[in-house]
Amino acid sequence: LPAIFEPARPILATIEKAGFEAYFVGGCVRDTILNDPIHDIDIATSAYPAEVKQLFKRTVDTGIEHGTVMILDHGTGYETTTFRTESGYQDYRRPDSVTFVRSLEEDLKRRDFTINALAMKENGAVVDLFDGQGDLKRHLIRAVGDPNERFLEDALRMMRAVRFASKLDFTIDPQTLAGIKDHAPLLAKIAVERVQVEFEKLLLGQNPARGLAGLISTGLYQYCPGLKDHQIALEKLEAANWPLKSSAGAWTVLTWTLGLNSQTVGKFLKAWKLSNQMIKAVQKSLKLLAAIAGDQVDNLALFNAGKAALDTALEVAQVLEIPVDAVQLQKEYQTLPIQDSHQLAINGKMLIEAGVVKPGPTMGKLLQRLQTAVIMGTVENNLADLTSATKKFTEEME
Ligand code: ATP
Ligand code: MG
Repeated sequence: LPAIFEPARPILATIEKAGFEAYFVGGCVRDTILNDPIHDIDIATSAYPAEVKQLFKRTVDTGIEHGTVMILDHGTGYETTTFRTESGYQDYRRPDSVTFVRSLEEDLKRRDFTINALAMKENGAVVDLFDGQGDLKRHLIRAVGDPNERFLEDALRMMRAVRFASKLDFTIDPQTLAGIKDHAPLLAKIAVERVQVEFEKLLLGQNPARGLAGLISTGLYQYCPGLKDHQIALEKLEAANWPLKSSAGAWTVLTWTLGLNSQTVGKFLKAWKLSNQMIKAVQKSLKLLAAIAGDQVDNLALFNAGKAALDTALEVAQVLEIPVDAVQLQKEYQTLPIQDSHQLAINGKMLIEAGVVKPGPTMGKLLQRLQTAVIMGTVENNLADLTSATKKFTEEME
């Protein structure tokens, strides 16, 4: 077993010693078999949450109503979830009520795909009730049970199918794919935030072309915010030079390809319910990318973008094969006279104390001009030069 499991094995042993069952489940088992990096370990158990809490000194109720208790052990938290079934699916969304059960099989049956429905004992023995291991070998995303039923229960699973196709570079099983085609409109019932998470993971997968192809061929894209009329742009995106690394890069690649710019992108990303911080980041990288594509990058464009947006724009330029000398731009950024407004050798307080200007809009404009002059290299960033520039600028502004 990969080393990451070692500290968690005693937890399973403790639960088993108390007469319950406990397994590693979901992504961590799949990724172990695939020899892929494992980012978190999930545990499933026949013990009810109260029973789990009795067995360990330190636990946190992270989602106790869904059966999840976090066991704290030597500074690491392990999410432990009681075997459960999800009953009474309404509105094609994840149910809000769950029933705890004592049977592993019941728990594995409610999982989305065979490759995600694997369990593993403390000793590494795999429990595989739906031939998930066979599908891992065949590189197949296949629904557990009848795909139509499973997508009717929870329409998000359709989006998860295309995201795993991208993440793992797997094919979607034909029956599962047909199920998605038939039920694609149900995606509209799902909270946008949940669709967003899966779509971002699709764009950040090993082979987004596969995820996008699935999104297009099933018509799922039509039920994603703002994508309905963009089949051709999405097809173009399939041919990009994947993969990508950053979330900001993912949304920038998408929106650039859709023909959005720093002015128009806000509305689109708001519809996807992205954070304001992410929207700002994408706006900045789109703006810089436009300058790069138009061969109009100057010091001011680099300063306004900042380091993070520069890195994002360069990542995106590579994926979209927009020609750019990345080394040169990084160097220009590093050698900017200032990289931050605070580095300007003069500030508003100094201007007022020197009696050059009064507080107000004029002062703001003046500082802006001084800053631009420094960034563009027409004024040196020292007090003497900035003071004489101030005099010149105030005369001009009067
Ligand atoms: P990743 O490594 O990308 O996080 P993961 O398999 O851990 O992949 P999660 O979204 O973290 O994916 O979900 C954990 C597990 O919970 C899945 O492996 C699957 O067994 C189950 N699961 C998650 N979402 C659903 C769903 N909508 N329907 C059924 N089962 C689900
Ligand atoms: Mg996970």
